[in-house]
Amino acid sequence: MVKIEDQLLTLNEYSRGGKKILPLKAVVIHWTGNPNSSAKGDRNFFENRKNGKDGYGSAHYVIQDTTVIRCIPDNEVAYHCGSSQLDPASGKLYTDYARKVFGQYATDTVHLSPNMVTIGLELHPVDVVGNFTESTLNSAAEITARLLKDNKLGLDNITTHNAIVGWKDCPRLWVNKPVEFDKFKNLVKTFMI
Ligand SMILES: [Zn+2]
Repeated sequence: MVKIEDQLLTLNEYSRGGKKILPLKAVVIHWTGNPNSSAKGDRNFFENRKNGKDGYGSAHYVIQDTTVIRCIPDNEVAYHCGSSQLDPASGKLYTDYARKVFGQYATDTVHLSPNMVTIGLELHPVDVVGNFTESTLNSAAEITARLLKDNKLGLDNITTHNAIVGWKDCPRLWVNKPVEFDKFKNLVKTFMI
């Protein structure tokens, strides 16, 4: 069992608003996009957003190999997949997929966003292509499986940032090689029993 380190963010407007999450509809996978940082560095970046200089953004977990840092409690909203720019394909804020799955939480109302019904995991890449180590994938798969089981959800409830916000290149490798996302779902399955 991978160990979760709780390093919760300070309550603040920009990364931890403290709002309670609604019944969960999906686990959303991201890449941090920065191979030069670390899980701790990524967590601290979210924390420092409280100063208001880097806009909004956070995720529940940041994962690098066997380091799993929880930044936001599972029952609180993080700011990881909201959008304020129109999706090129749907011409709306969110993709058709997101609109179908999240309903009122993925319409053009900025007060309701997919963040209210999803948990976000940020995976640390080893390069700008977006490759992850096997150990990072294993940790993320184990956490994902636990979240799905805790919320009585299944493998179909794993998604990506890109599937919700079509212009987001996140996680980059899986956008370019969707088979890698399928492989991840299969890995999660091994932790579901
Ligand atoms: Zn993302």
